[in-house]
Amino acid sequence: MRWLASAVMVTFVLLGSAWMWRGEIATRVLAHGAASAMQTDRIADLPDGLHVVLCGAGSPLPDRVRSGPCVAVIAGSTMVVVDAGAGSPRNLQRMGLAPGRVAAVFVTHFHSDHIDGLGELAMLRWTGGGWATPLPVHAPPGIDDVVDGFNLAYRADFGYRVAHHGEDVVPASGAGSVAQPFDLPGPYAPTVVWHHSGLTVTAFRVAHDPVEPAVGYRFDYGGRSAVISGDTTRSEEVLAIARGADLLVHEALAPHLVAVLERAAHTSGQARLAKILADIPDYHTSPADAAAIAADAGVRMLVLYHIVPALQVPGLDAAFLRGVRDTYDGPIIVGRDGTRVTLPANSASVTHSTLR
Ligand SMILES: [Zn+2]
Ligand SMILES: [Zn+2]
Repeated sequence: MRWLASAVMVTFVLLGSAWMWRGEIATRVLAHGAASAMQTDRIADLPDGLHVVLCGAGSPLPDRVRSGPCVAVIAGSTMVVVDAGAGSPRNLQRMGLAPGRVAAVFVTHFHSDHIDGLGELAMLRWTGGGWATPLPVHAPPGIDDVVDGFNLAYRADFGYRVAHHGEDVVPASGAGSVAQPFDLPGPYAPTVVWHHSGLTVTAFRVAHDPVEPAVGYRFDYGGRSAVISGDTTRSEEVLAIARGADLLVHEALAPHLVAVLERAAHTSGQARLAKILADIPDYHTSPADAAAIAADAGVRMLVLYHIVPALQVPGLDAAFLRGVRDTYDGPIIVGRDGTRVTLPANSASVTHSTLR
């Protein structure tokens, strides 16, 4: 009994001390953790090949594990990003994919959720990478206005940072972004829009009416390939360009779940929200249709992103995937922030994991 009392007392003393010194302990953990995080170069650690990471797996709808749309593509030592939704630049930083390493951005279309994070991405790349040239943003015509707008909005910020940190750290010439418009590809006429260090980026037209222009991108490197749909209804163009690709990253909206939300909006007297929810399925693709494209194209893996609605209830993933097994029997991943697919160069291997 006495032994037990002593043990309890010692435990209390230890816990009490830990509580009293918690600030000191946390500071030491921070010092150790920060140093190792700063030494981490996840890009250098990757095997040579094509790597696709969801820096934002969501849509305009709030979702705890899915930020605004963003897909990072790493090929060798080159990293580019498709779209920059809200929260995605911070995800890149958190996942150890330094925004300072972003060589270029490719925008699919100008819906707000795909460009919300552009200003922040350009700022983090500039201050993190010390670039002397602005962030190149490739997109169909219309990108000039978007880039000009962000640069104007951030003009005061650029000045503050140069004044505070100095030209050597943040050269004024590297602030913001620069539009790199390319001609909208014709129907079924994919166009190579970028070629750098063995990575080829091909743009193709998708169907997102009334949103024009709207494109998707195919990435080829080291004998591996990945297609990113952007926002689109079920599209034969996506099927055509995904034929034989290793990976298809396709947007997905489950109409039967959006219908549940629409009914809830009606029930709660939210007429405007009900109307918006009724409108959105007609310019997106259902998970079952995305799976049918994956099956017809013969891709090795299907990753769904731009997930609508938010899958906040446990088990909802299963409902979201209704019908996908009617056609496609390969691996299907319901994307979340950090979903990573690895395609080592000149192999047939496809693996996935989650970066946290
Ligand atoms: Zn979108
Ligand atoms: Zn859109």
